[in-house]
Amino acid sequence: MTFDEFDLDPILLSAIEKIGYHKPTPVQQEAIPAMLDRADVLAGAATGTGKTAAFVIPALQYLLDEPRPARFPRVLILAPTRELAFQIHKTVKQLGTHCEFPTAVITGGFNQGKQAQTLSNPTDILVATPGRLSKMMEEDQVNLSYVELLIIDEADRMLDMGQGPTVRTLLEAIPGDFQAGLFSATLSGSGVRKFADEILDEPVEILI
Ligand code: AMP
Repeated sequence: MTFDEFDLDPILLSAIEKIGYHKPTPVQQEAIPAMLDRADVLAGAATGTGKTAAFVIPALQYLLDEPRPARFPRVLILAPTRELAFQIHKTVKQLGTHCEFPTAVITGGFNQGKQAQTLSNPTDILVATPGRLSKMMEEDQVNLSYVELLIIDEADRMLDMGQGPTVRTLLEAIPGDFQAGLFSATLSGSGVRKFADEILDEPVEILI
């Protein structure tokens, strides 16, 4: 199978080629078409399987399919750690190189005032860790009312780190119907399935 077989915009295909991905990995083969069909996805896929591109590619295609002037974040990607958030943001920048969607990454350990300033600019894709994002929400520095696509990465690690309640509070700030993808190294233990049940609606389940 090749990336051409998905219904992807040529500018995305050209970014994929430029990075040097020739063939979708197993999690990409399953998650990309399901997400393009607007289904919720529950994926058991560890780091190293290509899971990041499995949600970044359909997220970019979503924005290409539904163009609207950027203002508040429309795609929200939550990750448990700063390192992972920055890694995901890098993939977003690489794969989105021809799309020019404004993006931001918000995590602890950096000046919150500067991050608030960043978010006062139009942002289509926001990558964030739950702690700092909820702090900024409490202080009215971020508006999650326009989120249409939510990705939760490494959900098992998030729950292990005690971030479950923070994520639940964040999700309460998203009023509308949103598509969601939940990625986790394992789907057993750590309450991942219960967490997924709260967030996802009849998800396509992918086990790698
Ligand atoms: P991840 O599981 O998202 O952390 O990705 C692991 C590594 O695989 C990263 O270095 C990616 O750049 C790389 N990768 C992701 N998708 C592909 C692909 N389809 N072909 C080759 N490498 C890939």
